[in-house]
Amino acid sequence: MKNTLIIGATHGDEAIGMRAITTLAQSRDDFDWVIGNPRAYAAKTRFTQADLNRSAPGDLMSSVYEERRAAMLIQMSKQYQSVIDIHGAEKNTGLFIILTNPSEKNLQLASQFDVRRIVIWPAITPDLEGPVSEFFPCGLEIECGPKDSAEVQEELERVLADYLDKKTPEVEQEVYEVYGELRSDPGVTLNEFEKVTIDDETFYPLLIGTYAKAYDVVCYKLRKRGEIN
Ligand SMILES: [Zn+2]
Repeated sequence: MKNTLIIGATHGDEAIGMRAITTLAQSRDDFDWVIGNPRAYAAKTRFTQADLNRSAPGDLMSSVYEERRAAMLIQMSKQYQSVIDIHGAEKNTGLFIILTNPSEKNLQLASQFDVRRIVIWPAITPDLEGPVSEFFPCGLEIECGPKDSAEVQEELERVLADYLDKKTPEVEQEVYEVYGELRSDPGVTLNEFEKVTIDDETFYPLLIGTYAKAYDVVCYKLRKRGEIN
């Protein structure tokens, strides 16, 4: 049994994690890995019956595939010291860490990655409830965008290898917190992690347009820790 479990394709259409994992696995065997949602991955779709990353804690006896899968992954996660769940974003976000459960343990884990931005993302609205990483004893998500970029994939491979090698991160980390969502057209151009002020409210936008169809969200609003708006 290894210390670290890496999950790829929790969303079946985010193959960047699986590409990085299979590349890494060619030259090292100090981690275990698993396909988060094998059926959706085979079909190249986000999910089959329900969004796996909204199905936790799940139920092994459920009739919904993703609910069974969520329960299975959470059960697996208990055998590891750390669990890394890899996602792919459509937008040009680069690599950033998402903590769905900002426990002391998980914050400590995030600090071991050479990734500049850490986003604390609690389920602030019902449509965000049920990410699998929230139920791992110790774990986080790494979001990578754009998800089809070879450069971003290489950066992911480097970051994972450095973590497994226990290298001290070089980057100075910034911690953000998701506190709200923008639901109406701001009338200005938004850029990922680029500070903007709209109607006297200053925030950093995240995942612009990604959830426009599913949840009617223009973007999520972040504030940066240690910064007074
Ligand atoms: Zn995802």
